[in-house]
Amino acid sequence: MTDAPESYAIARNIRTVRENIRRAAERVRRQPDGIRLIGATKTVPAPRLCEAMAAGLTEFGENRLQEALEKIEQIGHGRAHWHFIGRLQRRKAKAVVGVFELIHSLDSVELAAEINRRAEQAGISQPVLLEINIGGEASKGGFAPGAVAEVLPELNAMPHLLIRGLMTIPPPSADPEDTRPYFRRLRELAQSLARPGLERISMDELSMGMSHDYEVAVEEGATMVRIGTAIFGARHA
Ligand SMILES: *Cc1c(COP(=O)(O)O)cnc(C)c1O
Repeated sequence: MTDAPESYAIARNIRTVRENIRRAAERVRRQPDGIRLIGATKTVPAPRLCEAMAAGLTEFGENRLQEALEKIEQIGHGRAHWHFIGRLQRRKAKAVVGVFELIHSLDSVELAAEINRRAEQAGISQPVLLEINIGGEASKGGFAPGAVAEVLPELNAMPHLLIRGLMTIPPPSADPEDTRPYFRRLRELAQSLARPGLERISMDELSMGMSHDYEVAVEEGATMVRIGTAIFGARHA
């Protein structure tokens, strides 16, 4: 038996996405090496992740805790870098802390306090990104852009939380150019929040860009893009 055709498609898609990232970076004279490609793998079964790993993809972002934990168990925690990118309920913080190398979706001070508490119990510091509701959409979680600055001192006082930067999911649009102002606003927000005085807070990471708009996101400064459909195909579940 040879490989299923899908594995060729996954390997080819990963190559295409990496090439597009490289070109987008070059257009704005950025180093492409610093931009991390995260496979967004909700509903994608473990064997497909293994095919992606065989094609050199080592970072995966999961939205649903139970699904993620099953795949991590099947694949092996140490064999890939695991990101949590979905909505996170406070009562699930315990299961997430220490398992995921970066939680992209920290969206409230209450959740931060719970992650901090669980990280302290586990004897670790947990890296996180602050999710920003950049379009001010009622349907989405995340901090309002104007509300972040005032909570930073409180977050910095949580000794087991390491804030690495910002994440956003802009309002959906057919034309990726429509999302450019949102990505730019996130970068400018990160720049305005980068304060040397707060030792557990840095604004080095910008997690932004999905299948239809990652090239624009890279042009606007993304350091991590989260790509599902363009690598694994359309989701059926
Ligand atoms: C599903 C998902 C993605 C990837 O979306 P695609 O359009 O399939 O690339 C990225 N980020 C988050 C938070 C997601 O839930």
